[in-house]
Amino acid sequence: MPIIHNFNAGPSILPKSVFVEASQAVLNFNNTGLSILEIGHRTSIFQEVIDEARSLVKELMQLDKNHEVLYLHGGASTQFMQVPINLLDDKESAAYTDTGVWSSKAIKEAKLFGKVETVCSSRESDFSFIPKDFAVPNDAKYLHITTNNTIYGTQWHQIPKTSNSLVADMSSDIFSRVLDFNSFDLIYASAQKNMGAAGVNLVVVNKNILGKVKRNIPTIMDYQNHIKEGSMLNTPPVFAIYVSMLTLKWLKAQGGVAAIEKMNNEKSALLYSAIDDSELFTGTVNKEDRSKMNVCFVMKDKTLEEAFLQFTKTHGIVGIKGHRLVGGFRASLYNALPISSVAVLTKLIKEFTDNNI
Ligand SMILES: *Cc1c(COP(=O)(O)O)cnc(C)c1O
Repeated sequence: MPIIHNFNAGPSILPKSVFVEASQAVLNFNNTGLSILEIGHRTSIFQEVIDEARSLVKELMQLDKNHEVLYLHGGASTQFMQVPINLLDDKESAAYTDTGVWSSKAIKEAKLFGKVETVCSSRESDFSFIPKDFAVPNDAKYLHITTNNTIYGTQWHQIPKTSNSLVADMSSDIFSRVLDFNSFDLIYASAQKNMGAAGVNLVVVNKNILGKVKRNIPTIMDYQNHIKEGSMLNTPPVFAIYVSMLTLKWLKAQGGVAAIEKMNNEKSALLYSAIDDSELFTGTVNKEDRSKMNVCFVMKDKTLEEAFLQFTKTHGIVGIKGHRLVGGFRASLYNALPISSVAVLTKLIKEFTDNNI
């Protein structure tokens, strides 16, 4: 068996040390003689875990006092509805940017709770770029963006400047680069791309924007209730939060977000230049909007794609088959993927090119 290089889009690679620690905790958590899977969430031993996870988020994102950190159930898909339920009244409107499948889904859900103004879209060009010229109506309650488009491989490198409240789905690039996180009023991200195992999602919210809608919000959907209860309104996904805490501890030990961003820049530059240098391969999106997390590319001669996939497989490459909507290949370069794995894929692209032209 060759060494595995895991380029999966999500759930995806996590640091080896996290797997080791998490598996030990399943057998005997912190020498308590108990498994992490069998302890009560209201015990002091779990309280320490969630406290540490939430404080690592605050520290790594350098959040101010207004921003609250929640770990919630239901994945990013639940946030597509929870955001408008909490922020948008029936007769009000919110501005959404339409840059891929996930943002389209967010738009669909928001329409159930208020008016949606789609202020820009790259749909006509198969979502191959990030729109730059668009206006946001003054009365829009918030502007929603998907900072990284996991399926199409585009990323907002310039966060739009707006006087409106800014809301972002950061599922696939959270903790990958330095941003002014306090300039967002609400950030959500499912954990299984870049910050842990599936089963939990992170919500960072400016508490000052809450409590303004007139509708009755079901208890479990109201962010304010979760804040009041310290992110433990009901039984939280204990194990997923634990794995997220370990992943963030690992990230801090790497030097934090700025240090990992440098690595992510090197990894994506290496892979994109191999694609650009090859006569057989080509990227699928506008160069300036290329994602540093999900690198999408195709072969100019589609009949060679299966052969390339098989060739890379024999060298331990996993998870590079493109999303069915885009085809070709997608290599996801999340934080935990070492640059050595990217170097292997890069070498294979060069070798395959040399052998086939
Ligand atoms: C994966 C993903 C989602 C969906 O996350 P779930 O946890 O499956 O609901 C939403 N938005 C983006 C940008 C994603 O990458």
